[in-house]
Amino acid sequence: MQQIPATEAPPLRRMLEQLIATPSVSSVQPAWDQSNRAVLEPLADWLRAAGFRVEVLEIPGHPDKANLLATLGSGPGGLVLAGHSDTVPYDAALWQHDPLALTEDGGRLYGLGTSDMKSFLALAIEAARGLDAGQLEHPLMILATADEESAMHGARALVAAGRPLGRHAVIGEPTGLRPVRAHKGVMGETIRLIGRSGHASDPSLGNNAIEGMHAVLTALLGWRDTLSREHRDPAFGIAWPTLNCGHIHGGDNFNRICGQCELHIDIRPLPGQEPDTLRSALRQRVAEAAEPRGLQWTVEPLFPSIPPADTPATAEIVRAGEALSGHAAEAVSFGTEAPFFNALGMETMVLGPGDVAQAHQPDEFLAVERIEPMLGMLRGLIQRFCLMRSE
Ligand SMILES: [Zn+2]
Repeated sequence: MQQIPATEAPPLRRMLEQLIATPSVSSVQPAWDQSNRAVLEPLADWLRAAGFRVEVLEIPGHPDKANLLATLGSGPGGLVLAGHSDTVPYDAALWQHDPLALTEDGGRLYGLGTSDMKSFLALAIEAARGLDAGQLEHPLMILATADEESAMHGARALVAAGRPLGRHAVIGEPTGLRPVRAHKGVMGETIRLIGRSGHASDPSLGNNAIEGMHAVLTALLGWRDTLSREHRDPAFGIAWPTLNCGHIHGGDNFNRICGQCELHIDIRPLPGQEPDTLRSALRQRVAEAAEPRGLQWTVEPLFPSIPPADTPATAEIVRAGEALSGHAAEAVSFGTEAPFFNALGMETMVLGPGDVAQAHQPDEFLAVERIEPMLGMLRGLIQRFCLMRSE
């Protein structure tokens, strides 16, 4: 029997069901981490059926992960609709609904990745339904990335490959249908002090790393005050860069001089503050506190940092997102792939149908009523950036 080739993507609901039913957890904990290829396979089939050219972009060093880039039309410029294909880990026991089955209940679609954010990929395909490459003045690209929820290997690999994609990009992370053009960066740093342990009864037998960390903490809190005085961005609810001391461990026993102490801190830089520059300043502070005490020290990232994102308020994509949504572009406190896309020469806006309050939570859902407005905005953006003649 001959298979008749599909000529269009399946109905939206069927795409949503299949994406949610296909687990693609990414995690820095190896026990949780899964490949995302099982999600890319149906996406590739649907996009091919819809007339897109599909490329699976390998990620060097991560053979079980890949990005998928699908392109309709050709030429310069163009619009990229992007979403990550992975989800966070989940605890099924805390869910009232099956996290791996799309369940409609009370006007909500429940399932892992409904809001954050596999649904957006299906919505992007739906918004492109019926488009023909011949109609497009500029290409439309749909991009599904890997590993956004862990180390952002997918977006980092795109930057490393350096291949320009489109001029304008939308990332469909959950923003409640409001355009977002800026967010803070995210850094996690480990500060380690090494002294010398010895019997508590004689201080000359050791060099106390906890006491050294006391000096480091004093220096860090002073630095934090300076940072918050010198850097302000009123676009953010918390208008200054934050520094949080989140974890500390030192020593082993009350009657021994502490030989080692480790502190983990979180820094959220504002747009314009480079993580590497901040880390150098942090090293300087730690060195000034530790070295006079004869302590060895290290400062290392807990994970590769996410830079802040800052797409100009005047960017065409931001203006278009504001016009279509009826909301002024905002700044948010969560990190996205936007700084990596901006580094590739795209002007990137974050705009998606879900709510961040539901992301990373049991019983994550997407309200059914968000779907049509999102599709309307996506069609408007395609019209504006792909179909219409520019200049
Ligand atoms: Zn997300």
